[in-house]
Amino acid sequence: MWKILLISSLATSCMVGDPPLEPDEAELDLRAAAAPVLTWPVVRLGDSNRTVVTAQYLLRDAGLPVSVDGAFRTDTVASARSFQSMHDLPVDGVIGATSWARLVVQVSSGSSRAAVSAVQDLLKNRYDKSLDVSGVFGATTVRLVSEFQTERCLAATGVVGLYTWNALIVDRTYCSGGGGGSAAQRILAAHNAGSITLWDQTFGRFYGADPLTNLRDAAAGRAAKTSCYGNAPCTTVTLSSRLLDNVDRLRTQYGFRFFVTAVAGATHAAGSYHYAGRAIDVDEVNGVRISGDSATARQWMAACAALGAVEVFGPNNDAAHQDHLHCAW
Ligand SMILES: [Zn+2]
Repeated sequence: MWKILLISSLATSCMVGDPPLEPDEAELDLRAAAAPVLTWPVVRLGDSNRTVVTAQYLLRDAGLPVSVDGAFRTDTVASARSFQSMHDLPVDGVIGATSWARLVVQVSSGSSRAAVSAVQDLLKNRYDKSLDVSGVFGATTVRLVSEFQTERCLAATGVVGLYTWNALIVDRTYCSGGGGGSAAQRILAAHNAGSITLWDQTFGRFYGADPLTNLRDAAAGRAAKTSCYGNAPCTTVTLSSRLLDNVDRLRTQYGFRFFVTAVAGATHAAGSYHYAGRAIDVDEVNGVRISGDSATARQWMAACAALGAVEVFGPNNDAAHQDHLHCAW
């Protein structure tokens, strides 16, 4: 009886709360591709990642009980099902496109609610590590949202509407053309979905030359940073679209899951293709850590060669590549 009362009061407060966010072209800036198609990730029981954290904050924002810990357990399933039931969505406990579109709510300066924590948590992980996740939309959050919007070809309003939510959750840009463009975006999406892991550091160094930041820069149409130690030139380079297209094909065409340790960053031989934005290093393929010659290492190298790589190094052909694989285009 009490449970029924609780759910009906939640449903009521939710219904009278935030209306569904509609796509609003005014949220895009002049550099954006017209009428972008929104895609959303799917998270479900057993998943454990950043996107689950966002879903949990948004379920809390809707008044539903769930711990925000990034692990999609049965309590998250129960809250997701309650939310879906409240909004006449198919009740499956899986957060996909229809649930995301109803979960996101407009937040802006002065907002103080769990949805603001979701925005801050995403900004902290997508844009600025120093941001405090307070749940209060203050001046720093306004500034960082505006900067993030500018980077992703959104109008710098500081207001988080549907497109800004989508850019934050999917880590996408709306810029048309630009840099590594769509291949970089597909690789980032694969990273977010877990089929590729882009390391977020450069062997313990944190200054934006890591694979994850390299790909984010490329997706946003910016040059990628190289490192500033060893032989590295401490400069920036636009990642080759040929490199990005072929890295994406290693996933889509060959079905490899892999861990990327370097793109433009880290120290390599002088004149390395890494410094030209043309090479990638991986140290794990399909869950197998590269350590000496193996069938997996050879399969990867063969795929790079078949995709027209200009350099392919690994344990079976180079003494300096016993613990990682290198392909350049
Ligand atoms: Zn390499």
